[in-house]
Amino acid sequence: MSPLTALLSALRSGQVELIDLTAPLTSTTPVLQLPDPFADTIPFRLEEISRYDERGPRWYWNDIHTGEHTGTHLDAPVHWISGRDGLDVSQVPLRSMVAPAVVLDMSERVAKDPDFLLTVDDVRAWQREHGDGHGDLELPDGGWLLYRTGWDVRSADQADFLNADAEGPHTPGIAPDCARWLAQETPLAGLGVETVGTDAGAAHGFTPPFPCHDFLLGAGKFGLTQLQNLGRLPVTGAVLVVAPLPIVGGSGSPARVLAMVDQTGEQTGEPTGGRTGGGDA
Ligand code: MN
Repeated sequence: MSPLTALLSALRSGQVELIDLTAPLTSTTPVLQLPDPFADTIPFRLEEISRYDERGPRWYWNDIHTGEHTGTHLDAPVHWISGRDGLDVSQVPLRSMVAPAVVLDMSERVAKDPDFLLTVDDVRAWQREHGDGHGDLELPDGGWLLYRTGWDVRSADQADFLNADAEGPHTPGIAPDCARWLAQETPLAGLGVETVGTDAGAAHGFTPPFPCHDFLLGAGKFGLTQLQNLGRLPVTGAVLVVAPLPIVGGSGSPARVLAMVDQTGEQTGEPTGGRTGGGDA
C-alpha cells in the first residue's frame, strides 16, 4: 500500500484522527491590543457583497477585513526586526508546515499564576519525565513545540483572553532565557501557544522586550498563536498541519491548523489530559 493510501485509509477508519486547533474567525475573535502609542490591528469582519439578492441573485459572498495577526495565525520571521532579512509568510517552507509536534502542558501552573513564565528547567524536567527509557524526550528536529497553558478556555471573550488591568495584560509566556534557548539551541521549526501572541502579557517589560518574537523569529523560526484543543493531543506523536495564506511580503497570516493523531496507541505517548474543549468529536 502506498503511504498516501495508508494515510487515507487510517483517516477513514479513525485510526488517525484529525483535530482542529484553530479558533473560529468572527468579529469577536480576540485580537492583540498594544499600549499607546503603538498602532493596532483591526478585528476580523465580513462585508457582504451579495446574498441571493439584486446584487447577486443566485450567490452569497463576502469581502473579509482582517489583520495578518488575527485569530489563530502564523508569525513569519520578517514580522520582527531581528528577522527583518528573513522569510515572509509566502516563503515559509511547506516542510515546516507539515511536521511533528510535542505538547508541553503547564496548565496547572498557569491556573495558579496567569503570569507564569516557562523556564529551561521546566522544559528539561518535562523532557526527563517523558523520556522513553533510552533517554530524555527530544524536541523534534524541524518540528513544533506546542505550549499548553489552558488559556484556550478564555478565547471566546476578548477581556478574559487579554486579562489586562492597569498594569497591562496578565497572560502566560516564556522566560527570556528559555526563549533564547528554544530559538538558538534546539532544532525546532517553531513554537505554538494558546495565547494572543507567543510572548507573555508582561513581555513588553522583559529584556529583550518580547523575547519569543525577538529570539525565535530572529533565528528564522515561526510562531503560531491562539491554538485550541491542545489538551486533546498526546505529548508526542502528533503531526501538525499549518496552512497560512501565501501573502506576498506578508509578516504573518491567519492559518488553519490541524493535528493528525494516531489513535491506535502504537506510536503516541501519554495523553496530556486536562482537556478543556467539548470532548470527543
Ligand atoms: Mn502575531
